[in-house]
Amino acid sequence: MKGSEPFKGYCLKIIRQNMFKRTDFIKHAPKITRWIDQYFHTIEDFPVKSRAIPKQVYDEIPDTAPEEGESLEVILEDLDKTIMPGITHWQHPNFHAYFNANSSVESVFAETITAAIGAQCMIWDTSPAAAELEERMMEWLQKAMVLPADFEGVIQDSASSATLTALLTAREVKTNFSSNETGVPNNLRVYCSTETHSSVEKAVGICGIGRKNLIKIPVNESMSLITEELEKQIQLDIDNGLVPCCAVATLGTTGTMAIDPLAAIGVICKKYGLWLHVDAAQAGSALLLPEYRWISKGMENADSFVFNPHKWLFTNFDCSAYFVKDTSMLIRTFDILPEYLKTDKRGTVKDFRDWGIPLGRRFRALKLWFVLRGYGLKTIRGILRHHISLNDFFAKEINKRADFEMVQEPFLNFSCFRYKPSGVDNKDHLNALNKELLKNINDSGKAFISHTTVRGDTVLRMVIGQTYVEEKHVKKTLEAIFSSALKLDPSK
Ligand code: PLP
Repeated sequence: MKGSEPFKGYCLKIIRQNMFKRTDFIKHAPKITRWIDQYFHTIEDFPVKSRAIPKQVYDEIPDTAPEEGESLEVILEDLDKTIMPGITHWQHPNFHAYFNANSSVESVFAETITAAIGAQCMIWDTSPAAAELEERMMEWLQKAMVLPADFEGVIQDSASSATLTALLTAREVKTNFSSNETGVPNNLRVYCSTETHSSVEKAVGICGIGRKNLIKIPVNESMSLITEELEKQIQLDIDNGLVPCCAVATLGTTGTMAIDPLAAIGVICKKYGLWLHVDAAQAGSALLLPEYRWISKGMENADSFVFNPHKWLFTNFDCSAYFVKDTSMLIRTFDILPEYLKTDKRGTVKDFRDWGIPLGRRFRALKLWFVLRGYGLKTIRGILRHHISLNDFFAKEINKRADFEMVQEPFLNFSCFRYKPSGVDNKDHLNALNKELLKNINDSGKAFISHTTVRGDTVLRMVIGQTYVEEKHVKKTLEAIFSSALKLDPSK
């Protein structure tokens, strides 16, 4: 350009002097792999739940970014000093809280490679291998879990996103694809049980149907949705001029691992023309085990189904497998095609950007591929069964105690129990004792469990799903529970 300064390359030299060269990766990588190796060797020495107090980590981090680049050694030192005390160790075998987000060495390897490749897999063209591996991985899961043959799958970030995707699709189908264009009518109704995960309520709000149009159907003694109540409510709504749109059935509720009667719910959904979404976020992995496939009886009537390999299938968060029966409804809901995303392959390949909410997508299929190949289905089934047997052992030990009780039958890798010393019958007192017990257990650092309420009672939840958990870890948690109980004074 006439009159402009010639480019000297000076800036680039300055900029680069503090950067790693990509080709020097192997020179520095051992520091990282050694750190990870050390972490894996010592993970059981950490308190499972972080003991950090609010703002502890924040206050230790400088309030501005450094002007000069710092060495990897210094950053790693601060990682140990500042960050690690604020980490709760989800991969600790005594992590039994919430539902697991388990992982594995195979998955960590794949995540490392995924980070190196750094692909953004929004459409087939932006990495054909990512799109086609994802398609294959969903087929592998579909076959291994014996899901209906007409399902097709896509990986989403979370079950919450998949459920929102399902509700948006159900909304469009019910309103003849007019809601995306002109807005959502205020007479659509969605149904789920009182035990359904909060992600459903969140999705009903976000998709514009409105939370007041989510009707929570009562549950029976097993905490499963009562189908007669569902049908009664649908009929009542129709009589009142409302429009039943979608029902959500849960396989493995968060509170008690209850199983909704999918087959009967499916028949009702067919009869009244509702979209049926199945949330099996945690329990879905059990469909890999023939002895648990009864929980999916009636799946052929479902329109969509989600489960999380990032919960109980040794695959790093995030990886949520979402299956739909009629992909044309899904794609019609999400498809929007600006000029810059048009390709000559469109229509002949899977552009997964049309199968969910975000445009940009991580290359999540790689970790699933590493896990499914590295373990093989036989070993995966073996580990799942091992976790289930550890849970049976845990429940038996709880049942042996006069001062504890199981609140529901143990199911899969999940137990729901509470402290109930003899002579204490007052509900509020028992709830307060269980809250105190929970705090004592988690403060001990030996185990991390969580709580919920069942019929108004505070109860403790125990999930045994970390990939490398063994009997000795469950014994350690039992010991932490019982010794923490000894510190309570039931008379107060
Ligand atoms: N559904 C159920 C039954 C769950 O238990 C959970 C989380 O534990 C979710 C949905 C939400 O999962 P995600 O964190 O993948 O959105």
